[in-house]
Amino acid sequence: MNTQYEDAIDLPLEALHDLSHRLTGTIVTPADEEYGGARTIWNAMIASRPAAIAFPETTRDVAALIRFAVAERLPLAIRGGGHNIAGSALADGGLTIHMGRMKSVDYDATTGRVRVGAGATWADVDAALEPFGLIVPGGVVSTTGVAGFTLGGGFGWLTRSEGYTSERLTAATIVTADGQIREIDAFNEPDLFWAIRGGGGNFGVVTSFEFEPVRLGPEIAGGVVFWPIERAPEIIDLFRRESAAAPAELTHVLVLRIAPPAPFLPEEFHGKPIVGIAAMYAGPVDEGIAALEPIMTYGEPLANTIKPKPYREHQAFLDSGQPFGRRYYWKSVYFDDFSDGVKDALLAYGTSFRSPFSSILLPHLGGVGTRDADEATATSHRGREFLVSYQASWEDPNLDTHLIDWARENHASLMPFATGHYVNFMTEDEIRDPARAAFEPALLARLQQIKAIYDPANVFRLNKNITPAEVLSPGS
Ligand SMILES: Cc1cc2nc3c(=O)[nH]c(=O)nc-3n(C[C@H](O)[C@H](O)[C@H](O)COP(=O)(O)OP(=O)(O)OC[C@H]3O[C@@H](n4cnc5c(N)ncnc54)[C@H](O)[C@@H]3O)c2cc1C
Repeated sequence: MNTQYEDAIDLPLEALHDLSHRLTGTIVTPADEEYGGARTIWNAMIASRPAAIAFPETTRDVAALIRFAVAERLPLAIRGGGHNIAGSALADGGLTIHMGRMKSVDYDATTGRVRVGAGATWADVDAALEPFGLIVPGGVVSTTGVAGFTLGGGFGWLTRSEGYTSERLTAATIVTADGQIREIDAFNEPDLFWAIRGGGGNFGVVTSFEFEPVRLGPEIAGGVVFWPIERAPEIIDLFRRESAAAPAELTHVLVLRIAPPAPFLPEEFHGKPIVGIAAMYAGPVDEGIAALEPIMTYGEPLANTIKPKPYREHQAFLDSGQPFGRRYYWKSVYFDDFSDGVKDALLAYGTSFRSPFSSILLPHLGGVGTRDADEATATSHRGREFLVSYQASWEDPNLDTHLIDWARENHASLMPFATGHYVNFMTEDEIRDPARAAFEPALLARLQQIKAIYDPANVFRLNKNITPAEVLSPGS
């Protein structure tokens, strides 16, 4: 750590220096060369500059860092994979705990469980588990952090058959606001264990997650089929039919976007809007190919990349469309009934884009995947059928308003059909807006009670914040 940093007038440099000597890990400040890289997160729209970024290497390091932040009254943020659209991984003027050095993935054949360090991404988990023919169901891309993803619920290619990722969590190591290290599961501090399966980073810093993996593959059938945008009305109908008839193993995602200059797409379509259905079958490959036949053979597609491939490859095939360091702004809603009204709203706005990188993703989720009864975890909206996400993405800061407006206008057209919001897809303005609900009311009330027990001073507030029950209702 370089102690010459003078911009951070309020930073207790001497205390920070002492702390850095007590850690196994390290701390960087803006005076250090590594600061730029340490501060970088996925969304380049986020301007926050932490006064210090700590890289713990042990759970005890994390406990020391929390105690320090509390004693010095520093705003505290937690960075897992740094993918959150709201940029809540960075504490502006405060301390960010960057979990990037705690990313081990260990499968224990005796217990059948896998332990994942809080700095791991889904790519790390996939790589470690592939030799065992196992996976932990992650998201639709491989670059997101396991931590923020799981704590907010987490859906992906296997949600319909295996439930949300938070439902596969069997235990965790967490450090709470009082600096205590807690090993939690369904029997040890069950309320806290319930709360972290959907309540986000509101309850402490999780340093490792234990999951029950799923046996799959390694090969599955998956990929994407694209058609020209003029065929969007009939492709939306195809998506509606196929998703309604799909078994739990089969997941479809409707995609509207500008064709990238990819070799699998005819050159004359590069740069033009296209419509597609991405899909995966979580079961034997031959069953999957048969189940995907209706979309592979529909009309005359521009491209069809559906084939047998390792799950690991499938989970990464959309990665390049959403790279680190571009400007991003998303608006999303859950909805249940894919009515003609939803279709018309999609067609009215969703066929014109204001940048070559923007897209609309609409995964079919369906309630069938939820393994547990309602409220068995704190993940809100587990039974929702669909999520639509307007994902504006661009490079030139001069286009900020133009692209943000695109996402907002699209989103407004879907709001009449909305049945909820997904906490992990909320933007910076949405997480700050107390009126913008993320958690279902019945779950929120319990989350606030648990927050009051484990974080009464709301130390962990740089997130979609759950305020402790006492603060909301004094005297209750
Ligand atoms: C390209 C892309 C694709 C995505 N696809 C999906 C998808 O398919 N399905 C889905 O469900 N979501 C998806 N997401 C959303 C994703 O779930 C969230 O962005 C999630 O927050 C990412 O986790 P992270 O650790 O990378 O985030 P970070 O930005 O590092 O952290 C976000 C927040 O999580 C909390 N947090 C992080 N680490 C810890 C920890 N160790 N202990 C306690 N709290 C912690 C903190 O509150 C932090 O502010 C996607 C996001 C992107 C950018």
